[in-house]
Amino acid sequence: MTIEIYDRIKDSEKLVLPGTRLAVTEEFIGGFGTYSEDNYVYSSVTGIVVIDLERHEISVLSKPKAAVIPKINDIVLGTVVNVSRQMTTVSVSYVNNRLIYPSYTMVIHISQLSKEYLDTADDAVCISDIVRAKVIDAKTIPLQGSLIGSQLGVVLASCSICGSSSDKIGRNKIKCSECSNIGQRKTTIDYGSGNLAFKT
Ligand SMILES: [Zn+2]
Repeated sequence: MTIEIYDRIKDSEKLVLPGTRLAVTEEFIGGFGTYSEDNYVYSSVTGIVVIDLERHEISVLSKPKAAVIPKINDIVLGTVVNVSRQMTTVSVSYVNNRLIYPSYTMVIHISQLSKEYLDTADDAVCISDIVRAKVIDAKTIPLQGSLIGSQLGVVLASCSICGSSSDKIGRNKIKCSECSNIGQRKTTIDYGSGNLAFKT
């Protein structure tokens, strides 16, 4: 997949994925959480970009800042760890764009995966996808979530055959960048932008 170049003017404190191109090495030294290759600095972790303009250093911080307890209507980011016919389980690691530790477990019922009818949950999500979800019940353990809404859904999908990242080729269709396998996902409107943070 193509991840757009990180825009440091517009997107300070933006969440980035491993492999996001952050800067050119002529301009910035790569700090924590980065690596340099072919004159570019890339993120090596998922985290928040921090720029030190005096030192010309760009870093990515993946450390959680404080304990966060998810509440109803919070927007979370997590990895799909299990998909059954009716239920999807997500390991939540970001709440309202902040990294949390330890992670929370969220379940999403098939009726909350999409407004459209689905035969099974894997018509919308697959294991190891990264999803942006909304908390619809925080009193239960695990949390209950929803992917209904244009900004909610899969933000990054792995190919179910080879595990490579996939590009969006239609509203809810993705194609593997390596093996061309086509899959179906409930994608977010900004799928593939490399931007994981939720913009309000
Ligand atoms: Zn593939």
